[in-house]
Parts: sequence; structure tokens; C-alpha cells
Amino acid sequence: MADLDPVPGPDPVAGGDPVAGGDPPLDLTAIEARLLAVETALQRLEDGSYGRCSSCGSPIEEELLGNDPVASTCGACLAGRVEGA
Ligand SMILES: [Zn+2]
Repeated sequence: MADLDPVPGPDPVAGGDPVAGGDPPLDLTAIEARLLAVETALQRLEDGSYGRCSSCGSPIEEELLGNDPVASTCGACLAGRVEGA
């Protein structure tokens, strides 16, 4: 018996995701959370606590606010949260 591959046809690509990139699907929960964050930020603007960490009271880094204008926690608290405080 010759040791040859039986069928040299095209490989069936199983489980491949043909669509990469493009717009992500609408996530209503995320949008609602975002809306809430904006409302909270507006309220904080009114009472003068905007730009301060809601957790420790330190000023939030400008870089963080640049990335996320409605950020409510400073970089340190954010990092602490990720580590699991
Ligand atoms: Zn903080």
C-alpha cells in the first residue's frame, strides 16, 4: 500500500469566523450603562465633584479623563479594582 494522502482537495475550514472587524453589534446594556455614567458625570459637574475619584477623592488623571470623560475613579483605584481589592 502506498502511503499517500487520499484526497488532496481543499481543506474544509470548520469553525472559522469569516467576519472580522466591522461595527460591533449594538449592546443595549452597555449603552444604558454609558448613559448612566454620563448622567452621573453631569450631576458631578453640578455639585463640583467632577474630576475627583468617587472612591478615594483624589483628582482623576487628565489622561484618564481624556480617554473617558465620564471616568469616576482614579487610575490607582481602577488598578486596585482590577487586582481585586
Ligand atoms: Zn481613587
